[in-house]
Amino acid sequence: MSTLTYTAVEDIPKVHATARKAFDSGKTKSLTFRKEQIAQLGYLIKDNADRLREALHADLGRPYEETDMLDFGPAFGQIKLAYESVEKWNKPQSVDFSLNWFPMRPKMFPEPKGVALLIAPFNIPIFLLFGPLTSAIAAGNAAVLKPSEQTPATSQLLAELLPKYLDPELYHIVNGGVPETTRLLELQWDHILYTGNGRVARIVAAAAAKHLTPLTLELGGKNPVVLDPKVDIKMAAKRILWGRFSNSGQICVCPEYVLVPAHFQDTFVDAIKETYQSFFPEGPENSKSFARIVTEAHAARIKRLLDETKGKIVVGGQTDVSKRYIAPTVVRDVTGDDSLMSEEIFGPVLAIVPVKDVDEAISFIRARDYPLAVYVFSHDKKFQRKVFENTKSGAAVVNETVVNAGVPSLPVGGIGPSGTGYYSGKHAFEQFSHYRTTLNNPGWVDTLIFNFRYPPFKPSYRKYTAALFGNLPPRPGQKPSFAKRWGFWIVFALVGASSVLLTKQGRLLSLTQLKGLIRA
Ligand code: NAD
Repeated sequence: MSTLTYTAVEDIPKVHATARKAFDSGKTKSLTFRKEQIAQLGYLIKDNADRLREALHADLGRPYEETDMLDFGPAFGQIKLAYESVEKWNKPQSVDFSLNWFPMRPKMFPEPKGVALLIAPFNIPIFLLFGPLTSAIAAGNAAVLKPSEQTPATSQLLAELLPKYLDPELYHIVNGGVPETTRLLELQWDHILYTGNGRVARIVAAAAAKHLTPLTLELGGKNPVVLDPKVDIKMAAKRILWGRFSNSGQICVCPEYVLVPAHFQDTFVDAIKETYQSFFPEGPENSKSFARIVTEAHAARIKRLLDETKGKIVVGGQTDVSKRYIAPTVVRDVTGDDSLMSEEIFGPVLAIVPVKDVDEAISFIRARDYPLAVYVFSHDKKFQRKVFENTKSGAAVVNETVVNAGVPSLPVGGIGPSGTGYYSGKHAFEQFSHYRTTLNNPGWVDTLIFNFRYPPFKPSYRKYTAALFGNLPPRPGQKPSFAKRWGFWIVFALVGASSVLLTKQGRLLSLTQLKGLIRA
């Protein structure tokens, strides 16, 4: 087991102060600087890919290929997207057009919030740290990263590498466990992004509330699959098992259970057995394509869930807690009150829950917390729509699992108990930004439109106020009359235009005079 050097608790406020001072220096205002830092994140991974693969193998028994697929690929996707989008994302945004207000040029422009705290879990450490960090940098923030203490080799390596590649004053890693994270959470941040379980999320949220710090929560849950018996079952079995067994089931968007019509369970189980054999021809324990559970404690927890199940094991079932090994396992005939349905398994165990039909499947999902993803395997659009329209989740995915979290332009995020906000791409950029609103009102607007706000008031001014803010929509059931909708503004525009264009003497203004008037 690798050892992880924890940051001294008393040094944590200094890290925070250094990041704040560096942010206040204005260094991150330059978009070129932000782009360089984003690119450096990519080269940190590229230059040290072998060491990172090794570290993840030590921590999670991860096959190297899985590290490329789950950590490097998605991180590169975020880095490329942010690098290419920094200018676009940071442009001022115009707001919905309104004839009444457009002369004041209302706009919004993104500004960095300041210093962000990013707390990550053990399961996909590089993507889950660097994905959000990329967006935080694109938005111009400084950041302190807190990797998981449960992946000591990876967290130690990241602490060594980050200052070599990124500005060491702006971006920091704090390593440690509960005391270190608790100290971090006592400090005032401008945004906190926490990825992990719902129990700790409540601690983080309570700490953020003390400072009224905005918060993004990326949590877990139990992601269901709804299976249409008319689907290509081989394709479904492959994609479901791949999603469930990757990283030994330790992926937040893994499918946890499959709702299958009872009469179709045997067919599905046959397809599972065939796929299982093709994935692990030499058996999973000897396979170089299957990871391990992060700690013995988590392996023991999953073993207990398996020991207590009343379902029937179809494949797998073997466990060796001392080796953090839980065989990829599928259990059939699982019911709603089974141990496997009692909590997020976060391990390589797939439950098959037989139901009468799609309506019962929907009721089953609706009776539980909103998950990160609802997966539907069906070629029938009506079937897909029925499930999605009657359930809620972070993502609604057809004929695929897990891949949705890796598509760079698709933000990842939950709803309610599975999370709040997004941690990737433009949507994460927006969370690390404050959209400052602005307007710039030329003097002539008063002459033309807005003089009626100044005292002394006259009762007639009320109709101008009403016109400026706009009419109410028609009462339900009534159609808007054209005159009511446009009449005032047609007259107003005609009168306004002529009063601008004509001098008191009735002569047309020259172009230069007109420009001068507009500038004023
Ligand atoms: P973990 O044990 O590594 O903990 C996550 C972080 O919380 C760590 O940095 C840890 O130091 C910190 N922490 C632990 N206890 C704490 C405490 N008492 N106070 C303050 N901080 C504390 O990982 P985990 O939470 O077990 O992660 C797995 C969970 O994360 C699963 O539920 C999974 O679904 C979820 N997850 C969600 C996403 C997503 O995108 N929504 C992604 C990955 C994982």
